Amino acid sequence: VTTLPDTSPWKSVHAPRPLGLSPRQRDVLILLVMVALVFTVTSRMDLFERFARFSEAHDAWQLDELIWLPILFAVAGLIFAWRQSRALIRELMGRKEAEERVRAMALHDPLTGLANRRKLQEALSLAVPARKERSEVTVLLAIDLDRFKPINDSHGHGVGDRLLKEVADRLTAVAREGELVARMGGDEFALLLPVAESADAATRPARRIIQALEAPFRIDNIVCQIGASIGIACASEANFDPEALIQRADVALYRSKSEGRGQFRFFEEEMDGHIRRRALLEQQFSQALAQGAIRPHYQPLVELATGRLKGFEILARWTHAEEGVISPEVFIPIAEDTGLIGELSLKLLREACVEAAGWDPPLTLSVNVSPVQLRDSRLPERFMQVMTETGFDPRRLEVEITENTLVADFPGAKRILTALKSHGVQIALDDFGTGYSSLHHLRELPFDKLKIDRSFILSMEESEESRKIVGAIIGLGHSLGLTTLAEGIETAARARELVDLGCDMGQGYYYGRPAADADAFRDGGETSVQGAA
Ligand code: C2E
Ligand code: MG
Ligand code: MG
Repeated sequence: VTTLPDTSPWKSVHAPRPLGLSPRQRDVLILLVMVALVFTVTSRMDLFERFARFSEAHDAWQLDELIWLPILFAVAGLIFAWRQSRALIRELMGRKEAEERVRAMALHDPLTGLANRRKLQEALSLAVPARKERSEVTVLLAIDLDRFKPINDSHGHGVGDRLLKEVADRLTAVAREGELVARMGGDEFALLLPVAESADAATRPARRIIQALEAPFRIDNIVCQIGASIGIACASEANFDPEALIQRADVALYRSKSEGRGQFRFFEEEMDGHIRRRALLEQQFSQALAQGAIRPHYQPLVELATGRLKGFEILARWTHAEEGVISPEVFIPIAEDTGLIGELSLKLLREACVEAAGWDPPLTLSVNVSPVQLRDSRLPERFMQVMTETGFDPRRLEVEITENTLVADFPGAKRILTALKSHGVQIALDDFGTGYSSLHHLRELPFDKLKIDRSFILSMEESEESRKIVGAIIGLGHSLGLTTLAEGIETAARARELVDLGCDMGQGYYYGRPAADADAFRDGGETSVQGAA
């Protein structure tokens, strides 16, 4: 467990002490003053001589022996007082320690021992007084781990926790004196440079953190390969709002993550607009779903050699009152984050099945299933219920999953896909070539179809490399007994080329863009999509 030492100069500001004395020094001083006072009074008034004379005059009263009594009491009292004061000091020290422990607990993350969000806010509010030059700035790096979730999900929280501790160690090693490492929660961390010469000072730690976290971690016998994305925000003004600075770093982080991981990004004013838009859509999403503003569109899937229509892929579209049609790439992540993806998926499926149940010939429907949905072990039941309700034959249904879904939880995905398969549902691996899956996955899971990602097809013209990759994927698919489908076919020439490479099926603007009305492509059972390649 690592904590940054509390050495920073701006951290402890104590109330001033009277005369600069500690409580103990003050007590000793009071005692001395009292002894001096008593001595002065007794010697000034000749008290001892008076007492001696009085006791001589009243010899019969035995006063010289009586005097021992108060002396004995005084000594006993002194011993008693000393012992009491020791006990009191012990108790006070214990209380102070406990208070310090509670304070430390309130300001630190119990798992990693790093500062927590509160401590970071405190340090942020103390950063400005620590700045001496006007040109100095306060810099905050928001750090988020890439690919942490799959490890946590597949190896359990024990491994996840230990990984977080090792991440904390590596971050602490990057931090210099006076800088603060904090854990903001989950797999989010932060590094604060309270006083930096300029925003550029953040570049060094940002690069080093990305490098440090890219190196593999070994926990027991498990090798974990993660990484980090970073967002950086700076404050130069004398009175900035710590919370706003944290938010800006988060905004930059969000952008950095969405632009591909393992990078850092500085906050820019225009980023705020994107975040606000997303927050607004997030608010409006559940209502849009309830009111039926999100509906299935249909894109034809054709047999390449003949150009015959075989089925449709269902692609969600949100028709927004002000923004017009919103892409699923924008709102599917919102549906996932708000936990409404399952509901959205079933709704779209039901609507499409009602529409397609009576088609002749019985064309297929392909639905995209998000990684989040594959965590729901009851997914097969839910899908089958829709099939029963709508009278749609499950053998006409195809489920599309992406490779990244598999990395998150392979055994879970396998259980769900096998259950769906046992009802006759076909399984397609979507966007093949862009994710992290391995050939092992392809062999172990009950796939029927391989969908080659459109990025390869779109770049075939200018890239010989892409053409080779597409050819290799088609060969691989066939050797595993899978149907191959090329996404993103936009021209007749591309379609012909793919037929020559032996690809079975195709999808793309050449055959038709996703449309609200599937009947536009069905012409009394015959295909009306553009002709055979
Ligand atoms: P995807 O499953 O790979 O879907 C194919 C995407 O390629 C669609 O984008 C489609 O419009 C686009 N496309 C098709 N032909 C062409 C072409 O010739 N050229 C180009 N440039 N693009 C083409 P879309 O509709 O924007 O969907 C994007 C992604 O959003 C989908 O990728 C899918 O992963 C996801 N998605 C869409 N609807 C749903 C849904 O209902 N549930 C889930 N979980 N994901 C969905
Ligand atoms: Mg798809
Ligand atoms: Mg795809």
